[in-house]
Amino acid sequence: MPLATPEQFRAMVDAARADGYAYPAVNVTSSQTLNAALRGFADARSDGIAQITTGAAQYLSGPADDIAVGARAFAELAHVLAARSPVLIALHTDHATAEHVDDFIRPLLRESRRRRERGQPALFNSHMFDGSELPLTENLRIAAELLQEANELDVMLELEIGTVGGEEDGIDNADVASERLYSTPQDALAVVRALGMGERGRYLLAATFGNVHGHYAPGNVHLRPELLAELQAAVADTRGFDFVFHGGSGSAVEEIRAAVANGVVKMNVDTDMQYAFTHAIEDHFDSRQRRDPLGVEKVVFDPRSWGRKSEQAMAARVVEASEMLGSFGRTLAID
Ligand SMILES: [Zn+2]
Repeated sequence: MPLATPEQFRAMVDAARADGYAYPAVNVTSSQTLNAALRGFADARSDGIAQITTGAAQYLSGPADDIAVGARAFAELAHVLAARSPVLIALHTDHATAEHVDDFIRPLLRESRRRRERGQPALFNSHMFDGSELPLTENLRIAAELLQEANELDVMLELEIGTVGGEEDGIDNADVASERLYSTPQDALAVVRALGMGERGRYLLAATFGNVHGHYAPGNVHLRPELLAELQAAVADTRGFDFVFHGGSGSAVEEIRAAVANGVVKMNVDTDMQYAFTHAIEDHFDSRQRRDPLGVEKVVFDPRSWGRKSEQAMAARVVEASEMLGSFGRTLAID
């Protein structure tokens, strides 16, 4: 099964919306974590999304030190590996701020255009433009341009209004004013005025409702998922938004379910996945092995020996995420 086609990705979003579930969008940073995501979605029999940040793309590019190169290398690998996936996998690029439109999003769209001219699918199913640090009109002006460019290639756009708090991958909003953490119905109307409601290209909306990146104990973050219903009501004469939930790690299950009930179709999961992967490495080496590496069998240090455990642990976390979001057992893939 190749990666989700544009039609299949749209159908995935529609099915999630219609049946009241959401897809885990798993942040990956390497071939190992990509394989963990693919394994997790296969184990859950759940369609899903694998995504990379610009920071992940830079890491993936190694000494080339070029985020567009890293993202392209990742997508090429994912196309080959996901061809054997029993479920549909969509590829996405996460937060790209305004400074990365021209060294990340646009070079990737150009490469997707070249690929399509050769009869190959686009590199990614969707790209996120994060203009949340800009004034809203400027954010939406750039988003509208990118929507048009992406839509020509049948690629979806994700945009953000409001600001996700906390810190992720070098984007630090830990000190942002708390009212910025909540989108308003006026923001939602401005989005529809600038981008339309799908007729100018399909998009996903990361509208904030108190979200914070990173690991927070339940109760520490004041999420207001009911705010999403207010945003939907503001655009009542349309089909409404397909929302993305950022900063969900550590949120209470009821809050997540309420967000999904109000139109969230994609929930990003990063911190929990990183923890699952790394914690397995820690468990692999007992204290004696950490003290005296020379006394340990070589096989213990073979990167595959801990890598497999880490991948398995992260895959199990993907299965849990799919259970929580309701995508478990749901695939549009035809065997
Ligand atoms: Zn995010």
